[in-house]
Parts: sequence; structure tokens; C-alpha cells
Amino acid sequence: MRALVYRGPYRVEVREKDMPRIEHHNDAVVKVEMGAICGSDLHLYHGMMPDTRVGTTFGHEFIGTVHEVGPSVRNLKVGDRVMVPFNVFCGTCFFCARGLYSNCHNVNPNATAVGGMYGYSHTTGGYDGGQAEYVRVPFADAGPSLIPDWISDETAVLLTDALPTGYFGAQLADIVEGDTVVVLGAGPVGLFAARSAWLMGAGRVIVVDHLEHRLEKARTFAFAETYNFAEHDDIVVLLKRVTDHLGADRVIDAVGAEADGNLLMHVTSAKLKLQGGSPVALNWAIDAVRKGGTVSVVGAYGPMFSAVKFGDAMNKGLTLRMNQCPVKRQWPRLLEHLRAGYFDPTEIVTHRIPLEHLPEGYHIMSAKLDGCIKPLVTVGD
Ligand SMILES: [Zn+2]
Ligand SMILES: [Zn+2]
Repeated sequence: MRALVYRGPYRVEVREKDMPRIEHHNDAVVKVEMGAICGSDLHLYHGMMPDTRVGTTFGHEFIGTVHEVGPSVRNLKVGDRVMVPFNVFCGTCFFCARGLYSNCHNVNPNATAVGGMYGYSHTTGGYDGGQAEYVRVPFADAGPSLIPDWISDETAVLLTDALPTGYFGAQLADIVEGDTVVVLGAGPVGLFAARSAWLMGAGRVIVVDHLEHRLEKARTFAFAETYNFAEHDDIVVLLKRVTDHLGADRVIDAVGAEADGNLLMHVTSAKLKLQGGSPVALNWAIDAVRKGGTVSVVGAYGPMFSAVKFGDAMNKGLTLRMNQCPVKRQWPRLLEHLRAGYFDPTEIVTHRIPLEHLPEGYHIMSAKLDGCIKPLVTVGD
């Protein structure tokens, strides 16, 4: 089969790879029809994620058709069209029983903190991803769901990570009626978090980024006030000024570790084999939220961080809430919102890239070229 393969930092190629096969009774193999490149894939592409092995395939956002099922799979059959959450999870452990699918205890022998993810290095379990013609889906009764016939394939792909993660970011922010909500980062997750904040009662939504085309989308898609931090000396001072010098009630960090990379991050990642970096967005969040407010973190961070303003967070009485999104837990409510026509998530899609052209897609995304916000990947005919 054809698959995107990691060759080293800034080097990916599409080439022939062995077909995935059923390795456990509860596996399925899914023929991928559509996928996406995620902002967090850039951490892998830039060589920032520890234990990203040459030869592995990225891609944790994909939908497709069930091609083969293991003998114990009960919920799926060959030919079913499924959307697959980016989390690999068992569905039955202590954590899964509590809906904490992103914290599943049975899917990642390499780490205790993080659960399993498709196509996201051996740090998250070493599962090959869906930027390929076929992908192995473990615990096939737990993760995938049939794609409802009334949603488009593009919407279904966005339901595998970006939309639920953004919605979850707004949920974690504990928004109450009339709150001022600041969203740091106007990538897909930030845009969906900003749009979701209104659904949860926000009275005012402010989005901060440094790319004008993304801020434009924050205005037109998420109806947000926007600020370009590159145009201001101190974005925290500005955010204080526009929030009555109190700070915002809720701040959502939809940036995480700088996917762009910076010197400090290269040093900590490459030399110490940690996904480090400077927690700039997180410190902005801690500074820009009002005393007693909530900081919600859905941006991707690696395991090691220093210089987080934890003392300030304590002294301000903040609530800090964070997690990788348990995607499947968000689906019922999101499908209700979509069915009610509250929004069309595909408005943020900017590119549709055939699998064979994915290396070019990574370059466009990494270099922030061509107004790129969300590139989808088309696979097969
Ligand atoms: Zn993603
Ligand atoms: Zn589990």
C-alpha cells in the first residue's frame, strides 16, 4: 500500500509499505478515504517529539471503510463506513469506564501519563497512523463509530480531533453566562473553541494569533474580536486593558508548545530527547486571566516543562483544567449541534491534498504558506 513515511526532521515521503494486518482478535483494518494534517503533526515533522522513529506513518485524523475485522470484533463489519477518534483506547479499563478515553491504561506501554494515539510516535504507543491507504485500528469495538449518513466526509474527518478538541477546550473553561473568553491560537482547535464558547454562553470572545488569515477566520467563522500579538509590545497588557484591567474570566490555550519550533525547543528536544519548549502561551494564559478565573489547556505539550508561572497561578486562585480530548465522549453532543445546524465545521478547511502530494502539504503547513488553516488529505480514487 501507499503511505506517508517519516525519514527524519523535515523529511517525509510517500512510498510502498507493508499492508497492516490483524494482530489481535479485536483489531480491524480500515481502508482510509480521507484524513487530515493536524497542527500537532508539525511537532513530529520537525523532529520535536521524542521517539519518532524513521519509517513510521503519521496521521491521527481519518475516516474510511472497514476492510477486515478480527474474530472477536462485534460492533463493526466489513464495508462499514467509520470515523475513528484519534485516541486509541480499550473502552473497559478504570479510566475508559470514566470516559477518560485519552487516559486509557491499556494501550501505551511506553508511558504512564499519556494514552495511545494513531501516528504520533512511540511515546504515544507506536501506532501507525492514517496518512496511508490502510491503517490498523486496535480495540475496534471501542473507538470507531459509523458515520451518520447526514454528515459529509469532511465533517466526519473534523470530528476525529479538531472539532471535539476545540469544543472540549471550551468545556474545560467552565464558561458561565456572560463570561469574557480569550482563546490563544486561531488554528483549527482555537477556531472551534472560540465558536463553541458562544454555545456555552460566553458574552464576549477574543482570539489572539499572529497570522492575519487565521484572525480573519476567527472573525468570520467564530465572530470573535481579534488581536495580532505580533503587532503589540505586550499582549498581556493589551488583554488586561480591554477587559477592564481585571483580566478575562476564562482563557483557553489552544497553542501548546510552539509547533513552529524555536531555539530553546530545539535544544531541549534534540539534546535532551524531551519534547520541551517554552510555555509562552500558557504563561500568557496565566497572566491574562482574572483572579479566580479558569485556564483551559488543550494545546499539545510534551512531558517536560520549566518556567511555567505556577506561583502566579496559585496566588491568583486559578483553576487549571487540561487533557487530551476524549474524542468519542464529545460526539453525541456535537452531533446534536451539527444536526441543529449551529455551524458548519468545514468552513475552516483550506486545502484538500491527495496522499501522493502529502510531503508538499507538510511543507505548506509548516511554512504557513498559502493561507493554510486546515488541510484535508484525500486517499484513493
Ligand atoms: Zn490532530
Ligand atoms: Zn482503557
